[in-house]
Amino acid sequence: MLFLGFICGACWASFCGCLAYRLPLHLNLGGRSCCDHCARQLRWFELIPILSYLLLRGHCRACQTKINPALIIGECLSGLFALKLTQIFLWQPLPLFIHSLLWFGCLIFLSYLDYYTQFIYPALLLPLIIHRFTIITTTQILISQLLLAGCCFMALIIISQNGRLLGFGDIELLTVIAFCFDLNYLLHILLFGSGIALIFILFHHNKATKKHLPIPFVPFITLGFYLAQF
Ligand SMILES: [Zn+2]
Repeated sequence: MLFLGFICGACWASFCGCLAYRLPLHLNLGGRSCCDHCARQLRWFELIPILSYLLLRGHCRACQTKINPALIIGECLSGLFALKLTQIFLWQPLPLFIHSLLWFGCLIFLSYLDYYTQFIYPALLLPLIIHRFTIITTTQILISQLLLAGCCFMALIIISQNGRLLGFGDIELLTVIAFCFDLNYLLHILLFGSGIALIFILFHHNKATKKHLPIPFVPFITLGFYLAQF
């Protein structure tokens, strides 16, 4: 069952990656994927998450162009995230599973979207906010969650230095996290997410880093979100 969860997570990441790539470019959402370099349509075995990358040794079968390793990393991490979700499904009550499933689905998609475009659609955060409203039991909890979200938003706006240090999409996502969870969980997410992002920046000495190109932070928030559960 846990293995099945891992496979489902990897497949969801593969699907999200494809959708997040095609959607902003207004490409046809149907049809089989192609190689980004030679535009050759991929065969069925080249579409299997993780395995296809290993079988092809990270290169296109026709033009030998290197396949982006971020894709297999994303699929593996999404698989691990789904593994945790399967544990919740097996041992925890159903509402908690639905809650986690919603966050898992959104965060993986938003991570890929941010990775490809450095932009997230704010409308995608609405299901998370609506779901939180449906499970709030008292006005006191609602007020405290709104206060936490408001403080988080203001603090991040100040820290972001007009979008130079932190994108507005990241601020929106972290504000929604503040509204849906408690301060302790939010701080853990920030700690793990920022820590891993810092390690990535320190060790990722490529052209993008040297040219000070923006680094998508949502994938790191997602990683922090996953690690903060332990
Ligand atoms: Zn190719």
